[in-house]
Amino acid sequence: MNLHEYQAKELMRRHGVPVPAGEPATSVEEAKAAIEKLFGEGHQRVVVKSQIHAGGRGKGTFKDGFQGGVHLADSVEDATAKAEAMFGNVLVTKQTGEEGKQVNRLLITSCQEIKSEFYCAVLLDRALGKPIIMASSEGGVDIEEVAEATPEKIIKETVDPDLGLQAYQGRKIAIALGLRGKLIGQCGRLMQGLYATWAGCDASMVEVNPLALIENEDGTEAVVALDAKMSIDTNAMFRHADIAEMRDLTEEDPLEIEAGKFDLNYIKLDGNIACLVNGAGLAMSTMDAIKHYGGDPANFLDVGGGATQEQVKAAFEIILSDPSVEAILINIFGGIMNCNTIAEGVVAAAKETDLKLPLVVRLEGNNVEAGRQTLAESGLALITASSLAEAAQKSVEAAK
Ligand code: GDP
Ligand code: MG
Repeated sequence: MNLHEYQAKELMRRHGVPVPAGEPATSVEEAKAAIEKLFGEGHQRVVVKSQIHAGGRGKGTFKDGFQGGVHLADSVEDATAKAEAMFGNVLVTKQTGEEGKQVNRLLITSCQEIKSEFYCAVLLDRALGKPIIMASSEGGVDIEEVAEATPEKIIKETVDPDLGLQAYQGRKIAIALGLRGKLIGQCGRLMQGLYATWAGCDASMVEVNPLALIENEDGTEAVVALDAKMSIDTNAMFRHADIAEMRDLTEEDPLEIEAGKFDLNYIKLDGNIACLVNGAGLAMSTMDAIKHYGGDPANFLDVGGGATQEQVKAAFEIILSDPSVEAILINIFGGIMNCNTIAEGVVAAAKETDLKLPLVVRLEGNNVEAGRQTLAESGLALITASSLAEAAQKSVEAAK
């Protein structure tokens, strides 16, 4: 589950990471109140930031031509005008795709005087089987480009999950970023705070870009998190009721939300061949086979090993409500799954939705004869296949 910047910053703040003062807003009135509050506290400048589940906002463009999803402003009037220009407007960034994302929330923060920008992230290194901190002095820019062009500029520190990030490791990262004097200890503690956020929230990723060296009004310097990106491992959500409440359904695909209600593993893709499969591995191979024969899957859908007729029916309805679907491939290997349960779910859903699309079916395994009979007696125009290759080939032809 992805979080908004303002939510990630709140979780970081709770774990001791310094973040600029600020508040989220869901209307121009709320934004104005937050802006007035910051100026009232003596801040000279504020930053108005679009909150969407995608990065690259600063360099993004709104559909009406307004440039930039992140703006600095020197007055209440200017900041409010910028907030007004962003609300309800659709922001297109490198990460949103052409359709963009509608801005329903803003984060209003105090503006910092940036002296330099760094990159920092906490991730799980699957090869090492341990968390790592990744940092770079090349912040504020595309980190993928840094990794490609100048990999030596990326620092990696491995964390022992039983011990957490040690103070000396935090200082080591700070020194490698080029910090000196008191800033080494301060940035080191910030790194420990970021690791504590990652571990304490069961996050799969915490990213700060830019992590900034700033100059305070009294001339002192500090390192603070100016941006924040975070995703949480949904398997651990049961122990984070407070984080579960942060879920923003308006940022998620409606079909994926619907699938979640029925415990179905559904991910929408760009192609036109819908797949209904049991088991994640079989679902992956089915998508590979479709690709191999020149087709494009419309989704990943694993109904699981013990799906009920209701789940199969819901799954079928979900794939049918995707307007880009032009053919359906059902590929079931009944190990635990009863093939007839699938067949009955499919027939019920097909009749209810008055199915007109070509339907390719491959059933194998437990109770397959009854399943085939249910399908044959249903009156549906089915295309049957006996192997995965044949099923994939037929569905690619049917979708043409
Ligand atoms: P992103 O474009 O989605 O990654 O959004 P960011 O939160 O990283 O903001 C984009 C850019 O705005 C940053 O890279 C900074 O250069 C700038 N920015 C954000 N906050 C501040 C701030 O407090 N002061 C200044 N001077 N610039 C800021
Ligand atoms: Mg950023």
